[in-house]
Amino acid sequence: MTMTTMEILEEKSIQKPLAGKVAVVTGGSRGIGAAIAKALAEQGAQVVINYQSNMECADAVVEEIEKNGGSSYAIQANIADSQDVNRLIEDVKNRYGKIDILVNNAGITRDRTFRKLSESEWNEVINVNLNSVFTTTSAVIEHMLEQKSGRIINISSIIGQAGGFGQTNYAASKAGMIGFTKSLALETAKSGITVNAICPGFIETEMVAAMPDAVKDSIVSKIPMKRLGQTDEVAEAVLYLTKANYITGQTINVNGGLYM
Ligand code: NAP
Repeated sequence: MTMTTMEILEEKSIQKPLAGKVAVVTGGSRGIGAAIAKALAEQGAQVVINYQSNMECADAVVEEIEKNGGSSYAIQANIADSQDVNRLIEDVKNRYGKIDILVNNAGITRDRTFRKLSESEWNEVINVNLNSVFTTTSAVIEHMLEQKSGRIINISSIIGQAGGFGQTNYAASKAGMIGFTKSLALETAKSGITVNAICPGFIETEMVAAMPDAVKDSIVSKIPMKRLGQTDEVAEAVLYLTKANYITGQTINVNGGLYM
């Protein structure tokens, strides 16, 4: 018996491990977030790509996912603004009826040595990187508890573990994500929800490209693998956590051996 094209497509999508799952990736328009969004879509998830201002990049990610047979849409929301976050999550629930995977990826740096750091640079980084994790998680948690399943994956940083010169604000936000991850993991462990953090080392994105060459060379020389990481390598860890049932409250380091 020969199969129709539709039957072949349906069978292919059923075989994909994340078929039927809905994922939200904050800051999915560029860098690590875009790689995570594409990887989740390749595994069959319907992926919502959040962005702050770069609509063209977000649309390009959606287009690429759809060209490869996946399902996705982009939505603008400033994750530092709780009203925006609530609008984002409501929109996803209205469209897809559920949320299975939340990837808190969006993040910024405002590097400055502590004595020069202004209160607004401190607050901006804490609001975008850490307070947003409270807001997005608050918006999805009741729903995940009701459906008795969920994956919350927080993209922290090696800087939250080891510190970084001129990065007190960023390090505090990223260390805060790790503490948040462990505590929420304890509270939700019996409810089918896992909460984990990923700590990338130095990954080849615009954030790292903005560093002076001398700083980059000095970083690479200290990495045991002697190279920067790739965005796909962080996305691999996210995929792993979406499938892992018995891993919660953990911090997965994707850093080429730089911090052990
Ligand atoms: P990136 O290339 O600068 O991209 C940042 C993303 O976050 C963009 O999609 C941006 O949206 C979005 N974003 C920024 N502020 C936002 C806001 N207020 N609301 C909604 N979206 C916002 O960053 P990246 O290097 O891929 O980093 C992604 C995450 O990994 C960050 O949390 C970062 O701290 C962490 N990380 C990165 C590295 C690294 O080496 N790159 C290492 C460790 C950890 P627009 O496109 O609209 O601006």
